[in-house]
Amino acid sequence: MFRTLEQGEFEQVVYGYDKFSGLKAIIALHNTALGPGFGGTRMMEYESDEDALKDVLRLSRAMTYKNAAAGIDFGGGKAVIIGDSRRDKNEDILRAFGKLIATLNGRYITGVDIGTVEEDMVVISKETDCCVALPESYGGVGSTSAVTAFGLFYGMKAAAGHVLGEQSLKNKAIAVQGLGNVGLALVRYLHEEGAKIYAADISEDCINRALKEVPLEIVPPDQIYDLQVDIFSPCALGNVLNDQTIPRLKCKLVAGGANNQLDDDEKHWNMLNERGIAYGVDYILNAGGVIANSHQFIGYIKERAYKEVHTNITNNIRKVFEMADRDRISTVNAAKNLAEHRLRMAVNRKKWYFR
Ligand code: NAD
Repeated sequence: MFRTLEQGEFEQVVYGYDKFSGLKAIIALHNTALGPGFGGTRMMEYESDEDALKDVLRLSRAMTYKNAAAGIDFGGGKAVIIGDSRRDKNEDILRAFGKLIATLNGRYITGVDIGTVEEDMVVISKETDCCVALPESYGGVGSTSAVTAFGLFYGMKAAAGHVLGEQSLKNKAIAVQGLGNVGLALVRYLHEEGAKIYAADISEDCINRALKEVPLEIVPPDQIYDLQVDIFSPCALGNVLNDQTIPRLKCKLVAGGANNQLDDDEKHWNMLNERGIAYGVDYILNAGGVIANSHQFIGYIKERAYKEVHTNITNNIRKVFEMADRDRISTVNAAKNLAEHRLRMAVNRKKWYFR
């Protein structure tokens, strides 16, 4: 990890400590070629400070790729506040964290992640303007799960157009893993479209909440991998595409909202490919939240933000499949190439401008 830092992959890492509130935080800026580093703040306990550093570095790198591929003018950044969000979070800590962000003079913009919610952004924004994901009543996007599901639905349709030969999901069999915030909003769209939906969740409450609105065939959580369907849509956990699950899949396309679905990018993309299963890259399909949040800086208007989510995600997923076919590479590498191409263009634009 420190070798990577020495190699100069990360632009800046800031440790924050505040005696009075007890704040312990790390902000990592991976790459700001496209604009200020943008990624949410995760609040959780770590076994060690080194684990927290490892996590924030990994997450900030992922944000560089996600934001660049999404076509928004933001770089990669991420923050962690070290502590139990239920036990340790309070106004003093959040304000001290806001002051820490303010010291970066606009180089880092935060939002929500695990352990933080929209209301926390209201407190942080008392100390810095570099904060998005505010509640709708404060002019922000509010919860991003609705716009994430919206982008995922239209991205899934575009991917189906490429893989299944038609964009319509009418009468298509779709297995959705997870009926949480994103999964529930997704099945609403799929039902409207006329899809045959199978779903699984470990929470009875989530299943019952979904069944009140949408007719679904519920299967036990472990059986979701075995269904003969057109599309498998992981919307719960990461690392669900692995040595154990891929041999069980009987779908033609994986297109879901969960982060980090492939346990090992190269190995498990190849395993999917050998089974004739196409992979719609997670961070391309679930970029609705970052795209919508980027609109806070131009004045958030829901219709405008949703339009851009639709356009960017459908174009990007099509591009990724076309690049993968053309260059005979995985969709994972095609997405990476798309992001790196946009980063190189940004660096070259700056060189040209300042020469
Ligand atoms: P959530 O916590 O609301 O929902 C997750 C659901 O998955 C829960 O209902 C949970 O009971 C269920 N679940 C957990 N383990 C399961 C299992 N083994 N089998 C079936 N169901 C299981 O989370 P969310 O906001 O809906 O996010 C879902 C995924 O999408 C996460 O991976 C998240 O990182 C990713 N994501 C979310 C957003 C967003 O804006 N919410 C944006 C991008 C990516």
